Amino acid sequence: MMIVDGRGQTETALLAGEILCPDCSSPLRPHGQARTRTVRGPGDTRLTMRPRRARCTGCRRTQILLPAALSVRRADTVEVIGTALAAKAAGSGYRTIAAHMGRPLSTVRRWLRRVPETHAHWLYEQAVQHAFRLNPDTLARPKPWPSLLGWSLNILAGAALAYRHRVDVDLPPWTLIGLFTQGNLLSPPLRT
Ligand SMILES: [Zn+2]
Repeated sequence: MMIVDGRGQTETALLAGEILCPDCSSPLRPHGQARTRTVRGPGDTRLTMRPRRARCTGCRRTQILLPAALSVRRADTVEVIGTALAAKAAGSGYRTIAAHMGRPLSTVRRWLRRVPETHAHWLYEQAVQHAFRLNPDTLARPKPWPSLLGWSLNILAGAALAYRHRVDVDLPPWTLIGLFTQGNLLSPPLRT
């Protein structure tokens, strides 16, 4: 699985052999489509996508090119999960967040449990890496944040805005955050 930004350029780059295998760095080639996924967006919206499948010309492994608006193994978009995490970082509990977002208590509770301090730290590292590359000024804000999660999301948002400015691309900030965090805004099940 690889996270891509989901624009038409991805297909062009794939056809041109410019997307490289994460395992052996050989060019990937188109290899059909993965199964169709329908995930929940904000409120009652639904997003249906059929990710591209690609195969490595070197090691022959296949990869699914997952658009960055989707989270790895989650039924909700990065925007939805990210909004819940931002509310948690701002001090809301899971009951309030679930009621506000129209999601089951158990779902929201599961999301919030997937950002233990170790994962907040990982998010912070990704945030700093991207912000430093795109616009180091994003890191210089002196405002103190009560939690590492809140601070990390804030830097990620700053990096997303810097990316939009620099690359002149109209991707939604949460999609870019999905790209920066490689679809792992929540920690993968095997890591904790
Ligand atoms: Zn390979």
